[in-house]
Amino acid sequence: MIKSIVEFFKNLPAKECANCGLYIEEQHDCYSNICPTCSNIKDI
Ligand SMILES: [Zn+2]
Repeated sequence: MIKSIVEFFKNLPAKECANCGLYIEEQHDCYSNICPTCSNIKDI
């Protein structure tokens, strides 16, 4: 009954931007919860 690590990650919710809610493709770990578009906007 031990789930594999693959199953664990598959069950993880998709990462979404905390600002706009857009789905974030994992590109850089430095992007915590903000999509590249929002992280480029520094006026907020
Ligand atoms: Zn965003």
